[in-house]
Amino acid sequence: MTPLLEVRELSVAYGAIEAVRNVSFSVELGQIVCLIGANGAGKTTILRTISGLLRPRAGDILFEGASIAKLPAHEILSRGIAQSPEGRRIFARMTVAENLLLGAYARRDNEVDADMQRVFTLFPVLGERRHQKAGLFSGGEQQMLAIGRAMMSKPRLLMLDEPSMGLSPIMTQRIFDTISELQSQGTTILLVEQNALAALALADRGYVIDLGQSTLEGSGHDLLADQRVRAAYLGEA
Ligand code: ATP
Repeated sequence: MTPLLEVRELSVAYGAIEAVRNVSFSVELGQIVCLIGANGAGKTTILRTISGLLRPRAGDILFEGASIAKLPAHEILSRGIAQSPEGRRIFARMTVAENLLLGAYARRDNEVDADMQRVFTLFPVLGERRHQKAGLFSGGEQQMLAIGRAMMSKPRLLMLDEPSMGLSPIMTQRIFDTISELQSQGTTILLVEQNALAALALADRGYVIDLGQSTLEGSGHDLLADQRVRAAYLGEA
């Protein structure tokens, strides 16, 4: 079967700095795939390149079997890839509902209201506070809003960049539970996380990115048991 997303020998550079080198991985329909790795390893760069915000220096990115590496970002979004960015980047002066509607701007169908209800079912606090300005929200609530906004484009592939960053343990657990629930509702997810333990516990497949390269891969379960992963990312000697 053709994978939903296939990243082939991808290299990305910022001028002379090569941030990603020869990385390959794939995401099958319905899976949660996670990229783990230290700060600055290149994970965000990979997501931004898939979204069309950066261009590959070499390699290719295929979505449903067709190359998207040269497409503009809005075209990639309308093909069904949405990203919830690191640091959330919600619009603080806009209300919850307005932020969510922005996520749906490229859609031409009439199910937008129903999908907003779906976001409110997943995150009731967003429904209760739909008319409030998003800037007043806590970090966890803003993270819910960023995920909700990405869901509003009805993506076939949802990419989440560090969804647990800066959140309390309870809120982190809520976000990971939501990621599982989204998968069970049929969304395919590419997850970037520094919280390797929680991410691998959830993932069907994981890739370790180190200094711009993919150094290890396996099922989430196998990587969790791997001594090298445990030593590097879970702080075990
Ligand atoms: P983090 O979790 O800290 O975001 P990451 O694994 O997502 O880390 P990237 O943000 O992709 O890593 O960064 C990869 C490398 O590219 C780092 O060395 C970083 O300093 C460099 N880099 C990132 N953005 C830029 C930029 N706009 N210009 C120059 N170098 C950059």
